[in-house]
Amino acid sequence: MNGRCTCGAIRFHLTDTPLIIHCCHCTWCQRETGSAFALNAMIETRCVALDAGRPHDVTLPSASGKGQIVARCPTCEVALWSHYAGGGRAFAFVRIGTLDRAAELTPDVFIYTDTAPPWITFPEGARVFPEYYRRSTTWRPEALARREAELARQARQHEQQQQQQQEAPERWTTL
Ligand SMILES: [Zn+2]
Ligand SMILES: [Zn+2]
Repeated sequence: MNGRCTCGAIRFHLTDTPLIIHCCHCTWCQRETGSAFALNAMIETRCVALDAGRPHDVTLPSASGKGQIVARCPTCEVALWSHYAGGGRAFAFVRIGTLDRAAELTPDVFIYTDTAPPWITFPEGARVFPEYYRRSTTWRPEALARREAELARQARQHEQQQQQQQEAPERWTTL
């Protein structure tokens, strides 16, 4: 699925289906979007493939206090996706409105509905959470498995990087 910013300098596509789609009614999302809720597709960051341009990172405060990194187009400044402290850079929350076929994506969960405006209604049978939800009982099993696999991949990469750093001084001294 293809996506882009408003000016078109950034073009990207998703190489896999989202892990989960959030419709978030928290006051932080409301302020950042100027709307009543935000629609985000969570996906492994390596599944967000850039086709044109390179977004720049803006760090914003977040509800957890740990901050949020927002990837924006450097020209039109439209926000394309975010990384939160919980998942780190391994996972991206892609803003669904930047995708060409956004209308085909339906939220899996409606969250922080305690702060939804009173005129909002939810589809019948929707999974509605006053705040956040428990991942283990909410995500599809295959999405949980993909998350575990991605965390394992990140851990392996981290280990390899540390090994390389440890080996580097030795190589230096033998030169
Ligand atoms: Zn742009
Ligand atoms: Zn939110």
